[in-house]
Amino acid sequence: MSFTSCLDVRPEVEAFEAYEPGLSIAEIAERYGLERVIKMASNENPLGTSPAAREAIRRHASEVFRYPQSGNPRLVKALAAACHVDPKNIFVGNGSDELIDLIFRVRAVPGVHNAVAFRPCFGLYPTQARMAGVELRQAPLRQDFSFDFDALLALTDENTTLAFVTSPDNPSGRTASPEELKALARALPPACLLVVDEAYTEFAGPEYSLLGQLQDVPNVALMRTFSKVYGLAGQRIGYGILPERIADYLWRVRLPFSLNVLAEEAAIAALDDTAFREETVALVRRGRERLSRELRAIGCEVTPSLSNFLMFRPPAGKVDAAAIHAGLLRRGIIIRALRSYHLPEWLRVSMGTDEENTLFLQSLLEILEERS
Ligand SMILES: *Cc1c(COP(=O)(O)O)cnc(C)c1O
Repeated sequence: MSFTSCLDVRPEVEAFEAYEPGLSIAEIAERYGLERVIKMASNENPLGTSPAAREAIRRHASEVFRYPQSGNPRLVKALAAACHVDPKNIFVGNGSDELIDLIFRVRAVPGVHNAVAFRPCFGLYPTQARMAGVELRQAPLRQDFSFDFDALLALTDENTTLAFVTSPDNPSGRTASPEELKALARALPPACLLVVDEAYTEFAGPEYSLLGQLQDVPNVALMRTFSKVYGLAGQRIGYGILPERIADYLWRVRLPFSLNVLAEEAAIAALDDTAFREETVALVRRGRERLSRELRAIGCEVTPSLSNFLMFRPPAGKVDAAAIHAGLLRRGIIIRALRSYHLPEWLRVSMGTDEENTLFLQSLLEILEERS
């Protein structure tokens, strides 16, 4: 590859399009002249941020002139204790996004190694694979969005060094059993690390996590985040529970201060805020059961979800997903259209407060009645 101009960029980079963020509350409020807009589009915490984390951010605001402590040892120690693992198995970064990016660069040689994931999958896996110059092979999920592990295995070869599974999955909410994941780990080629993205695991419950069983499967790493159950999406904190050697190399290549002072303090405080976490999980489970039931009652197809969102398809022949998405926006409710996942008939709604869930259902009913 020879460059002829100072404006040339790497071919992998040239193919990139800017990340397309969801619609913001301010945009929708202005566009439709609304006073109240509800966002149920990004799987954020319906209760906001842990009060303990907010207090920690306030308390430590005056310390931001200092660099963070390199390696974030206090947060690492707190996470190791919470996860019952050795601190050497913990890595923390600027959101799980940073972890995804670094794991490609640490575990895959550009142009030589490949990685496997399902299709559709979380958008960061393909973009960061591309940025790292690594081929990502994708196996389609089954028609009902359940995991076809045989299809995933069929894509692997001796050069497959990473396999990604999101469980509970995004956008479907489908969740693999630990037994299935362990069987997959054991069947993968020897050079392959299975990365289980557990961003939503708290909403499924500890019985669905591989944490606690990692001694049985040494080729597994877990990724987790403070963005969902801890209500800290805007602070950017993710962590991994990984084989010690891989964690060590992630630390070596990470930008030294990627996790900032306030994010670290917020994470430490949030980790201790059991009440907030339990309240969040209870609210999400209640909403999930109610919305699944009521969406099915009006003829929608709903994918079984153990996460903090539901994926649903409106009744055939009535109003299509795009019209429902637009109708909800006009009423001040933002949910997620799944065009970018190549699922144009489907929508994803994040669980809100009980009141937000009611408003969502009422608005959806209005739209369906208007059009029928
Ligand atoms: C939300 C989400 C994450 C979290 O990413 P952060 O960078 O930690 O905010 C990770 N994986 C999946 C599949 C998600 O949906």
